[in-house]
Amino acid sequence: MKTPREPDLELRGKLIRSLGSLREMLPGSFVERKRACGRPTCHCADGKRLHSQYQISVLMDGKPKALNIPAELAEKVREKIEMRRRFDAAAATICGVNLKRFLKEKKKGDRPV
Ligand SMILES: [Zn+2]
Repeated sequence: MKTPREPDLELRGKLIRSLGSLREMLPGSFVERKRACGRPTCHCADGKRLHSQYQISVLMDGKPKALNIPAELAEKVREKIEMRRRFDAAAATICGVNLKRFLKEKKKGDRPV
């Protein structure tokens, strides 16, 4: 006979298997700033066509840091920071499934006094 489907366990397994693809995740948040470089002949001197400056805003040893990212790495870094968000969301879901199962088990084990 086929064992009944357990959607929670299927979800948990799927999430666990997806975590490997998030191994390159980075902490912090991705920041894009617009700035003028100061050269009077540059296109940014009009105050509208500004340069993009990319940064990771992150805590290092408890202190907030803004780390500059070269423009060619910006998209990769943005994805890696997004991975962290997905990792945290997966962990929260897995913990939720496990807590539900724990409470169910506990109830089963409870004996009337
Ligand atoms: Zn400029």
